[in-house]
Amino acid sequence: MPFSGLKLHPALVRGIKDLGYVKPTPIQSNAIPPAMDGRDVLATAMTGSGKTAAFLLPLLHRLMDRSRGTTRALVLTPTRELAAQVLADLEDLGRHTPVKGAAIFGGVGMVPQEAAFRRGADVLIATPGRLLDHLQYPYARLDSIEHVVLDEADRMLDMGFLPDVTRILRRLPARRQTLLFSATMPAPIVKLTREMLHNAARIDLQRKAAPASGITQAVYPVPHQLKAALFATMLERGDIKQALVFTRTKHRADRIMKYLVKHGVKAERIHGNRSQAQRTAALSGFKSGAFRVLVATDIAARGIDVEALGHVVNFDVPTMPEDYIHRVGRTARAESTGEAYTLVSPEEQSELRAIERAVGKQLPRVIVSGFDYSAKPDTVLEVPIAERIAGIQARKAEERARAKVNAARRARNEAAGKSGSRKSGGRKPRVRSRATSR
Ligand code: AMP
Repeated sequence: MPFSGLKLHPALVRGIKDLGYVKPTPIQSNAIPPAMDGRDVLATAMTGSGKTAAFLLPLLHRLMDRSRGTTRALVLTPTRELAAQVLADLEDLGRHTPVKGAAIFGGVGMVPQEAAFRRGADVLIATPGRLLDHLQYPYARLDSIEHVVLDEADRMLDMGFLPDVTRILRRLPARRQTLLFSATMPAPIVKLTREMLHNAARIDLQRKAAPASGITQAVYPVPHQLKAALFATMLERGDIKQALVFTRTKHRADRIMKYLVKHGVKAERIHGNRSQAQRTAALSGFKSGAFRVLVATDIAARGIDVEALGHVVNFDVPTMPEDYIHRVGRTARAESTGEAYTLVSPEEQSELRAIERAVGKQLPRVIVSGFDYSAKPDTVLEVPIAERIAGIQARKAEERARAKVNAARRARNEAAGKSGSRKSGGRKPRVRSRATSR
C-alpha cells in the first residue's frame, strides 16, 4: 500500500515525499490506521523498523485539527539522544504543518524547557527524570494531554525508569490515547500495558526477535587482548568504512577510542560521562564523516540515528541477547542493508550462544587472513579480572610479609629495652599500623 492509502493530512504527505519515503514500512502500515482512529496501540517494533514515523504521523495528523497553544501530546523516551532524534523526525515529517515540538531532557538547562511548557508546545518529547523535575513546578501542566507515546518501553524498564513512567502516567488525564512501542515484551511491560492500554490494536511483526533481514551478521573469534589490534586491522584493510562500535564500559570506550586515534583512525566516543555538548559534537562529527568510528556504550547509543550506517561492531559481546538485537538494529535501517560484526573472545562463548538462540541461527565465524592471532598484545585495554585479583593478592601478601618483619623488629626492640640495655640509645619501637601500600 502506498502512503496515499493511509489518508494522512496532505501536509504530512508532502513531508513524507520530501524525505523520500516511497512506501510505508510494515509497522507504519499496521500502526498508522488504528492510531489515526484514536485507538490505543501496542506494537512490538525495534529500531530500524520505521517505528518513529509510525507514531509521529498519526500524532501529527490528529494535532492538525485544532488550534495551538496547549500541549496535547507527550512522547516518553529512555534517552536524551532518542528524544532529540524523535524531535528531529517530528520537525522533518511535520515541516509543512504548524505543529511544534520541544524536547525535555537532562544535561542541558531547564529554562528553555520551561519556556516550552509555558508556550504550550504541541508535542513534548521527554525523558522521564527531567520531566519529573519540571513537574514539581506549577508551570508544568499535563492536564490537556490527549495522546501519549511510550517509545522503547523495554529500554525504559532496563534503565530503571518504570516507576518514573508510572508516576508520570498517573498525572495524565485518564481519557487519552496511549501508544506503546517496545522491541521486546518482558513481564513488567506486559503488566504496564494491561494497566495503561484499553482495547489496544496489537501489532506484533516480529515473530522472532531477530534483526532486520538485510543485515549480514558475522562473528570474529579473537583472544580478548587482541580485539583492538584486530579491529584496527579490519579498518586498515578497508573491510569497514565507518562503524558504530559498542563496548561494555565507559572506560573501555575511552581506551578503544584512544587506541584508534593513536593508530591514525579518526574516532570519537559517546557515553554517560560525556557532557551533552560533547555527545552532540561526537554524533554530528560521525554523521558528517569527520569521524570514521564512534565508540559508544549501549545506553548512550540508544536513539542514535545514522542514515545508512554500514557497520555496527560489537567490540564486546552484549550479555543480553535483546541488547544484541537492539544494537544490530542500528544498521540496515528501514530495510536497507548493513553489516554487524561481533568480536568474541573465548570467555564470551556462552553469551554468544544465548544470542544465537535468540536470533534462531548460528552466525558465521570469520578469520581475518593475515592477522596474527598469536601476536603479543600491543595494548591492555583492561586488566582482566583474574589478573586484577592476582595483583591484589600479591600486594596483600607483600604487606603481610612486611608487617611480619616489622612486628619481629618491634618484639626484638622491646626485648632489648626490657633487658635494661640502654647503651644503644633505647630507641622507641616505631609504631606502624600497616605497611604502606601503593
Ligand atoms: P526508526 O524510526 O528508528 O525505526 O528509524 C527508521 C529509519 O528509517 C529512519 O532513519 C527513518 O528516517 C527511516 N524511515 C522511516 N520510515 C521510512 C519509510 N517509510 N521509508 C524509508 N525510510 C524510512
